[in-house]
Amino acid sequence: MSHQKRPTVAVLATGGTIAGEAPVAAQTSGYKAGVISVDRLLSAVPELDSVAAIRSEQIAGIDSKDLDDSLWVTLAHRVNVLLAQDDIDGLVIMHGTDTLEETAYWLHLTVASVKPVVLTAAMRPFTALSSDGSLNLLDAVTLAACPDAVARGVLVAFANRIHGARDITKVSTYAVDAFASPESGVLGWVQDRRIEFQRRVTRAHTIKSVFRLNDIDTQNPLPMVQIVVSHAGAVRVIVDALVDAGVRGIVVAGTGNGSIHSTLQQALVSARARSVAVVRSSRVGSGHVMRNGAAPDDMLGLVSAGTLNPYKARVLLMLALSRGWSEPLILQSLFDQY
Ligand code: ASP
Repeated sequence: MSHQKRPTVAVLATGGTIAGEAPVAAQTSGYKAGVISVDRLLSAVPELDSVAAIRSEQIAGIDSKDLDDSLWVTLAHRVNVLLAQDDIDGLVIMHGTDTLEETAYWLHLTVASVKPVVLTAAMRPFTALSSDGSLNLLDAVTLAACPDAVARGVLVAFANRIHGARDITKVSTYAVDAFASPESGVLGWVQDRRIEFQRRVTRAHTIKSVFRLNDIDTQNPLPMVQIVVSHAGAVRVIVDALVDAGVRGIVVAGTGNGSIHSTLQQALVSARARSVAVVRSSRVGSGHVMRNGAAPDDMLGLVSAGTLNPYKARVLLMLALSRGWSEPLILQSLFDQY
């Protein structure tokens, strides 16, 4: 940490509802996300001045539903560069809520620093009555400036709660309290500039992660990994088309304990025969997928995602394949560790 009186926190903006604008203050849907600049968002919170010295950067201005892998690579590179600077103590990323959990887990595995990285967002646009963005931003900066947040992996500050990147998921389409950490619970709370942690994360992350960005760039992009959903009436055509398109990995958002419709399962067995890695997760939203439980993983060469939801399982699978790891038991050991 620096010896300045106030810590220095870098605040990166990527867009989202937190930077959203609607024509009238009573409008909380149908607004345009990601249009208000980072400097205008920061100037709406003068209280930040007593918490930290801020260095702001506008990385993007998108609705996070449109996020792509290349922005993840750009963001992770920039976060690593900033955190390597001695005069930066922590970092906040303003993001849309729709894919926040995916970006949080991506950074959890690709940031090579113990310094706090905190994502935050808003459910109501900046222009709305009772917009939640400014207070979430203040809480996120407070957390990023806190020495007790060091070495806890990537965190999310949202609606006074501190979530771990691996655990958090969006659970409401509209509520201001839109996130939860099913099964494991929150890591702690941030309110009125006070921070309380109740537990630490136990899985490997950040400096203990084996995943580094060195092998990934525009010449060598992330391998294609897509998610397919199992449901009543599922057909195989999506899997077959993905295999023909050169997919390297498929995550199945299975029913229940990662069970897969027999028609889809036949298609996935064909995909395995063409060296496509297949991971079983669940569409349920909480709980874990037991290896060799609802499908014979050993026999079919499948991998169980455990407690990782399909969207985060995709992140881990992409990173593993980018390192050249595709053998099911090696992938399984990664899913057991991360
Ligand atoms: N669609 C918006 C986004 O993810 C939603 C939000 O930020 O709450 O960017």
